[in-house]
Amino acid sequence: MILYNFLTRRKERFKPIKPGRAGLYTCGPTVYDYVHIGNLRTYIFEDVLRRALELNKYKVKQVTNITDIDDKIIRKSEDEKTDYKKIGSRYSKLFFEDLKKLNIKKAEVYPRATKYIGEMLKLITKLDKKGYAYKGEDGSVYFRISRFKDYGRLSELDKREIKSGARTSSDEYQKEDAQDFVLWKARKPKEPFWPSPYGEGRPGWHIECSAMSIENLGEYFDIHAGGIDLVFPHHENEIAQSEGATGRKFVNYFLEGEHLLVDGQKMSKSLRNIYRLSDLEERGIDPLAFRYLALGTHYRAKLNFTWESLEAAVNALHNLRTSLLRMSAEIALGENKKRSSAADKKEAGRILKMFKEAIDDDLGTPAALSLAWKTINDTGLNSKEKIKLITEFDKVLGLGLGETTKKYGKMPVKVKQLVMEREKSRVHKQFIQADSLRKKIEQLGYTVEDTGRGPLVVRKI
Ligand code: AMP
Ligand code: ZN
Repeated sequence: MILYNFLTRRKERFKPIKPGRAGLYTCGPTVYDYVHIGNLRTYIFEDVLRRALELNKYKVKQVTNITDIDDKIIRKSEDEKTDYKKIGSRYSKLFFEDLKKLNIKKAEVYPRATKYIGEMLKLITKLDKKGYAYKGEDGSVYFRISRFKDYGRLSELDKREIKSGARTSSDEYQKEDAQDFVLWKARKPKEPFWPSPYGEGRPGWHIECSAMSIENLGEYFDIHAGGIDLVFPHHENEIAQSEGATGRKFVNYFLEGEHLLVDGQKMSKSLRNIYRLSDLEERGIDPLAFRYLALGTHYRAKLNFTWESLEAAVNALHNLRTSLLRMSAEIALGENKKRSSAADKKEAGRILKMFKEAIDDDLGTPAALSLAWKTINDTGLNSKEKIKLITEFDKVLGLGLGETTKKYGKMPVKVKQLVMEREKSRVHKQFIQADSLRKKIEQLGYTVEDTGRGPLVVRKI
């Protein structure tokens, strides 16, 4: 399996630390508001990564943090005059609902920052002992980046022209260097706080991820993923803290997903172009159409969201489902009697290999999707083999396509009988009777369409 490693800016073969296992940390949401479809694009990419590792028979342990203490959460709780814990639990619940709608598989662990304060403080103490941390004039504890020689390796900071030592704003005077970042924020009036050897306060955002990943995956693990905006400073700082504290390599592969844009612009509140999954649902759009749209662009390319492109994804997904239903109908009605020959099996094996190659090439979902279409439209395989293949593909694509055909497989006998009866009437040109049978079939939730190849029966979706 080949992955593009942001640490080396090259495609590399994935070599697990422990044979047959993959440790994966994916930065999760700060639960102060609804997630938007940009965030969801990143979570879909990470889900595909997880599924691709599973396709390669790795036992995956995925850890996705929930940041449940942060400036924005506190601000929101002040605005709403409510407890910050309430804000966190409200929005994390909504986050999980969105994941479910998008067929995003559950991570093994969803650690919450506030449950790991002790572990964060342990890390900070270690950093302090090794000279990586110091207390600023404001009482907060900072990470001294000049002490960590590899600082900037992930984000290629030397190319970014941020001058070390430059002060950028007045409140930065608390620190030795403008780029030093906070590990522990000194307590402020009316804010939640925890006791610590450095005085009362709360953790900085970056230390949360270092502590939660190390606790759940160990000091050294395989893959760390997130959206491209996290490369700097978040992931850069995580590396500095973790490697500074443990004295060893933190993560082997960093994968960073590109952004979702809206009408060519960044999704942001000020431009009022933030969409949530519920905005799509309000327009009657199946959330999985958004997943289809996301799969159609490689995770390392920017994806420009437009309603037109989503509409095209809605149609494509509908057509894909309908094709599958059509094929299951043929099988259920005993119309497709073609048996799989040895040549068919060989061809199916060849296509499955092509699918795996597409996915194994740094998660090539666009190629995988077009292979699904080719399998349906341009191969001489029988319906059974096609459905088997698509069901295999869907283990990675996660579009619920296996479900589509499974549901059809359970087509009630009653429907089957009515279809047969109607077909007889039609052949004998008893059209009034055929029409009334069609109505009965429709009442049972199925539609019938007469095609050159016989009746096409589709469960209404
Ligand atoms: P946040 O809650 O802001 O930390 O973001 C959660 C995840 O969504 C992170 O992995 C971000 O990198 C990612 N993300 C934020 N905005 C976008 C966007 N417009 N497109 C894709 N991913 C994004
Ligand atoms: Zn993180």
